[in-house]
Amino acid sequence: MPKQVIFAGAGPGAIDLITLRGLDAIKNAGVIIYAGSLVNPELLDNAKPGAEIFNSAEMSHEEVIEIMEKSVKAGKQVLRLHTGDPSIYGAIAEQMRDLDRREIDYEVIPGVSSAFAAAAELNLEMTIPGITQTAIFTRRSGRTPVPEQENLKNLAANDATLAIFLSIADMDGLVSDLIFAGRSPDSPAAVVYRASWPNRKIVRGTLNDIAEKVRQAGITRQAMIITGEALSGQGDKSRLYAGDFAHGYRNPQMGAFTGKTAVYGITEKGTHKAAEIAAGLKDSALFIPEKFSAGFANAEICGTGEFAKTVEKNWTGFDGHIFVMACGIVVRHIAPLIRHKLTDPAVVVCDENGANIISLLSGHVGGGNRLSRIIAGITGGKAVITTATDVNGLTAFDEIAARKGWRIENPAKIKVLNTMLLEGKNIDLLLPEEIFNEFYSGIPNLKLVKPGEQLSGDGAVLLNAEINTDIPCLNLEAKPVAVGIGCRKDTVCKDIEEAVLSVLAEASLNIEHVKKLGSIDAKQYEPGLLEFAKKHNLEIEFYSPEILNSVKCPNISPVAEREFGVKAVAEAAALAGSGAECLLLEKRKFPRVTAAVAKYVKGGR
Ligand code: SAH
Repeated sequence: MPKQVIFAGAGPGAIDLITLRGLDAIKNAGVIIYAGSLVNPELLDNAKPGAEIFNSAEMSHEEVIEIMEKSVKAGKQVLRLHTGDPSIYGAIAEQMRDLDRREIDYEVIPGVSSAFAAAAELNLEMTIPGITQTAIFTRRSGRTPVPEQENLKNLAANDATLAIFLSIADMDGLVSDLIFAGRSPDSPAAVVYRASWPNRKIVRGTLNDIAEKVRQAGITRQAMIITGEALSGQGDKSRLYAGDFAHGYRNPQMGAFTGKTAVYGITEKGTHKAAEIAAGLKDSALFIPEKFSAGFANAEICGTGEFAKTVEKNWTGFDGHIFVMACGIVVRHIAPLIRHKLTDPAVVVCDENGANIISLLSGHVGGGNRLSRIIAGITGGKAVITTATDVNGLTAFDEIAARKGWRIENPAKIKVLNTMLLEGKNIDLLLPEEIFNEFYSGIPNLKLVKPGEQLSGDGAVLLNAEINTDIPCLNLEAKPVAVGIGCRKDTVCKDIEEAVLSVLAEASLNIEHVKKLGSIDAKQYEPGLLEFAKKHNLEIEFYSPEILNSVKCPNISPVAEREFGVKAVAEAAALAGSGAECLLLEKRKFPRVTAAVAKYVKGGR
């Protein structure tokens, strides 16, 4: 015997996406109360003659219950037809409570949720191995508030696929929450309007452009928003791109730790875990006790009672120390060695099982937080981060400086500006636009300012600029370089770019460190070179043979001598442009390009 009231899912819209059981319920009902415009009215054609049909969009909850009660009393089978699946935003819980009070029994027939219909429209697997194994069904606050912990700002700090209901009206707010949570502006997003209906629309994009595309498509309601790397559909390939992003923190793809690490184990189990970690890190040394050292050919042995001495000896020689043991042991050993947060190495503690990876010291500048996330990726554990900015989903300013290799000119201001960031004060950021977009766009109260622009915030973070102002400023300095370039006629931009990025990488720098480019004046109309400079918004200077010959270069180029009457182009241009006396990186030769790097000296040419 069916129950007196049936709650059934009507599916997302298409009439053949209701279950057979749901369809039977329509056929057998004496009274049908259906949920407004998202239940396909054609389904109601299956109702038996004489069935009473109500649209709940025009009724209050009380009216719905009243009709249910009256109909049940009259011996009629009642069907409450919801869109999709009734368990998701179906408001069935409150109806059930009221039916309980009236001692009316009921049952639920599931339906195809619009989340699944939208995924089907997108040919999407929400849980792609290597990207995410989680799908979250959620919404933004509307008339029904969303608990704070479930705010997208908190909920989205991971790679899970998000199916977001009831939220199309404020796409800008939604995107800004997701970016706040640490999602990359480039991560894929899609919106499906009226999935499975004949007039369905699909809009695909990235977090960057999805709001605009939705506006252009004129979608304002009845739409499912799906976002997450799973949409890129690349499985393990995309995982590589995601770097060590597995642990719910901001800007993971920037999470590399490039220094040398020492990994220590003291117990037998700890030694094995330490060896696993050391094997997963690029440049690491393993320190373990002699008695557990069998089978670890590359390990360095700590003699009995020599652990403390080993740590002391290693302290300044490594950029990171990873201790697989209890925090207490570590704290006691490192306490006397700690000097300053700008110079101390990163210290990370990992338990023997690799479950908790605690960033204990130098989380930002020293890279401890990044290192612990990388180790969490190796052990499959959880990175335990306690720095306030990170746990609030913000990237601290000293962390940015560390990642980008910028010098902090006034470290006393780190705390001041990070606190302002945490407190939501207005901060002006004079940073390269890409970096602002990557780390800070969408965060209220942070404003990108351009060189020369008036500051209007309560504080400022300034890269390569000194501004006379009363507001607290954190001054950062990229250690700038000049790159000298020589190239053959008609070399394309891409070849020049590859060569320059390669020499920069060899000098552990990136394009943001480049203050200017230089070459010989014979190349001043070389299209590829000009395009490269323009693409990266870099100043390029062309020097006369006299100027180039006035600096002393380590390598003489017979080709340059023959063609232009100069001893060298790339090296000489790097030195001429930088004002430096010696090169950071001597000339490197590529098939059509030569490039050399020199540190820029203030007042360089
Ligand atoms: N129980 C329903 C959801 C009801 S809430 C389900 O499981 O699908 C209503 C919201 O669902 C809409 O705002 C929209 O976000 C989404 N929705 C319902 N039907 C949809 C459809 N056919 N296409 C896209 N989104 C839909």
